[in-house]
Parts: sequence; C-alpha cells; structure tokens
Amino acid sequence: MTLARRAAHLQGLFEGMQLDETKKETKIISEILDILAETTEELQRLSNENDTLKHIIHHNCDNNVFDELENVDIDDGADYQVICPTCGEIMYLDAAAIELGSIDCGSCGELLEFDLSDLEEEDI
Ligand SMILES: [Zn+2]
Repeated sequence: MTLARRAAHLQGLFEGMQLDETKKETKIISEILDILAETTEELQRLSNENDTLKHIIHHNCDNNVFDELENVDIDDGADYQVICPTCGEIMYLDAAAIELGSIDCGSCGELLEFDLSDLEEEDI
C-alpha cells in the first residue's frame, strides 16, 4: 500500500471511530492526520517532479557529462597533486594511489614513479 493510501486509510479509521470532537486528544489526532495527508501529497508532488527532472537530464546530456561528474567525485578524495613531467597533465591522487609507488599518466601513458619525499600534500 502506498503512503498516501495508508494515510487515507488511517483517516477513514479515525472518522469511523466517531470520537468526541470537543476533546483535546481528538483535535490533536485530527491535526496529525491533516499534516500526514499534506505531507504525503507534498512527497508525491516532489517525487513526480524528481522523475521529470531525471527524465529531462537523461535526454539532454550526453554521457560525457556523467563521466565528468564521476571524475569530480574521485578528485574530492585526492590528497596529492601530481604533474606528469612528460606531458604536463595534472592528476589528483589519494594516499592509497601514491603508496602503490607508480601510476601510468592518464594523458600520455608515461609511467610515473613516486618518491614520497618529493610530494607536497595539497589542501584541495
Ligand atoms: Zn603524461
């Protein structure tokens, strides 16, 4: 059962109980059910809007955009900036990558070997 249906079901149960509407407890329960109904409506609206946005994004962006986004995520965890001496490509690597001792340059394929004493830690 969806959230909206469960909320509606609960509202029905509440109305069926025919509680004394002058009692504070009844007013509070009634208010909670109103908020619940509005919240589920708003959630449904946001969910529909999100689906629409995802649809638009997937139809308007080529895969390169998603590749770039993934690369940004990788750079977030980077501890070191390494510049290839052969082609000048700048790479951002984390400590685990540096500890491997070497890496192939992503641009020219040159094997880069690391001497930890040569590297400066950067705040990225
Ligand atoms: Zn290179």
